[in-house]
Amino acid sequence: MQSLKHLLKPQNVSTVTKTWTRSFLTTSKLQCEATTTPPPLTQLTEDEMMMKETVARLAKEQIGPVVREMEAEHKIKPEIVDMLFENGLMGVEVPIEYGGSGCSFMTTIQVVEELSKVDPAVAILVDLQNTLINNVIIKLGTKEQKEKYLTRLSKDTVSSFALTEPSSGTDAFSLKTTAKKDGDHYILNGSKMWISNSDIAGVFLVMANANPSAGYKGITCFIVERDSPGFTVNKPENKLGICASGTCMLTFENVRVHESQILGEFGHGYKYAAGFLNEGRIGIAAQMIGCAQGCFDATIPYTLERQQFGKPIFSFQSMQHQIAIVQTQIEAARLLTYNAARLVEQGKPFAKEAAMAKYFAAEVAQMATIKCIDWMGGVGFTKDFPQEKFFRDAKIGSIYEGTYNIQLTTIAKHIEKEYKN
Ligand SMILES: Cc1cc2nc3c(=O)[nH]c(=O)nc-3n(C[C@H](O)[C@H](O)[C@H](O)COP(=O)(O)OP(=O)(O)OC[C@H]3O[C@@H](n4cnc5c(N)ncnc54)[C@H](O)[C@@H]3O)c2cc1C
Repeated sequence: MQSLKHLLKPQNVSTVTKTWTRSFLTTSKLQCEATTTPPPLTQLTEDEMMMKETVARLAKEQIGPVVREMEAEHKIKPEIVDMLFENGLMGVEVPIEYGGSGCSFMTTIQVVEELSKVDPAVAILVDLQNTLINNVIIKLGTKEQKEKYLTRLSKDTVSSFALTEPSSGTDAFSLKTTAKKDGDHYILNGSKMWISNSDIAGVFLVMANANPSAGYKGITCFIVERDSPGFTVNKPENKLGICASGTCMLTFENVRVHESQILGEFGHGYKYAAGFLNEGRIGIAAQMIGCAQGCFDATIPYTLERQQFGKPIFSFQSMQHQIAIVQTQIEAARLLTYNAARLVEQGKPFAKEAAMAKYFAAEVAQMATIKCIDWMGGVGFTKDFPQEKFFRDAKIGSIYEGTYNIQLTTIAKHIEKEYKN
C-alpha cells in the first residue's frame, strides 16, 4: 500500500473565497458590496477531500472485511493498525518534520467520520491518537519531547490518554493517583480506569497529582512508557459496544518517571485535560456522525429492495418521512461538528460548539441506529446484519469525553455567561 503522506500539502485551508462588506460611504442606507462569500460548512479543501476519499476506500476495502472478526476477538488486528500508520492516519496533524501528515484538524474529523462509517472501534483508536495525544504533545511538548514522541506516534506507536480513575469519572479532578518527587524523578502510585486503546498502547499520557496539598492544582501530565517497571495494563473490559477497542484498567506501583517526562507545566494538568477534551469532543461527534451515516448507508438499499404489499418498503410515505427526518438529523449533527472544527482551526472560542456537536451527534447516532433496525424489521435484530453493531457502538457517544449531562451543563454555563453579560 502506497502511503498517502507524500500526496498531502501541509495545512492547506484556503476555505474563504468571498465575503460581503458593508458600505456606508454614499448613503445612510445599509448597502452590501459583494467581494467574497464564505463557503458552505461542508466544503472541504482539496487535501481534506483527498484524505476523506482515500480513507473511505481503505476502510471499505481493508477494515470492512474484518470488522466482525475484530469484534469477536476484542482486538484491532495488528495489520489494520499497521495500515493506519502506513497511511499517515495516526499522525494526521503532526508536522511533516516529525513524520506526520501535516494536515488540518478538519482532516482528522473527516478521517474519524469515514472510519466510523465502517467501524467506530477503529475510529476511536485514530481519534484519540490525533485529537488528544498528538495534539497535546504538538502544543505543549518541548523540542526533545516532540522529536522523541511525535516521530514514534506517527510511525508505529499507539498511545492512550489516562485521566479517569475508579473513584473519579465525571469529577475527574478529584483523581487519587499521586506523583511523589524523588530527586530528579517522580514516583507514581494509583490506578486508572476505562483507558481506551491501552491494550496496544506503547505510550501513555497520565494525569497524576504531584502536589495533593494544592488540590486539583497539583495535577500534572506525565508521559509514561509501557515498559516502565511497576506499570501494569490489566485485561480489557467486556463492553456493550466498540468491542475491538481495548479499554483497560492501569495500575501504577512505584513507577519511576524522570522529570523530563512532564508534559507542559507542573500543576497545569487539569487545565490541559479540560482544554484538550474540548477538541476531543469534536472527534467523538465525528465518530457518532460516521456511526449514524454508516448504519443509514447500510440500511437504505435494503428498504429499496425489500417488498411488502407488492411494493418496496421505501415507497410507503410513513417510511419516507422517517428516513427523511433521520438523514436531516445526521446532516444537522455534521454541520455542528464541522462548524466546531473550523472554529478550532481559526483559533476562535469553540467549547460551547464542541459540547453542542458532541451532545447532538451522540443523540442522533442513537436515534438513527434504532430507526435503521426498525426499518430492517426482523433481520435488523440479528447479528447477520451490521445495524445491531452500529446501535451498540453508538451508545458510548453519550458517556466518554464528558457524559450527556456534562455536555448540557457546559452549554448551559456558556448560555448563562452570554446572557449575564
Ligand atoms: C469505553 C470507554 C472508554 C473510555 N476511554 C477513556 C480514556 O481513554 N481515558 C480516560 O481518561 N477515560 C476514559 N473513559 C472514561 C469516561 O470518560 C468516563 O466513564 C466518563 O467520564 C463518566 O465517568 P464515570 O463512568 O465514572 O461515570 P460517573 O461520573 O459516575 O457518572 C454516572 C452518571 O452520573 C452523572 N453525573 C455525574 N456527575 C454529574 C453532575 N455533576 N451533574 C449531572 N450529572 C452528573 C453522569 O452524567 C452519569 O450519567 C472511557 C469510558 C468508557 C466507557
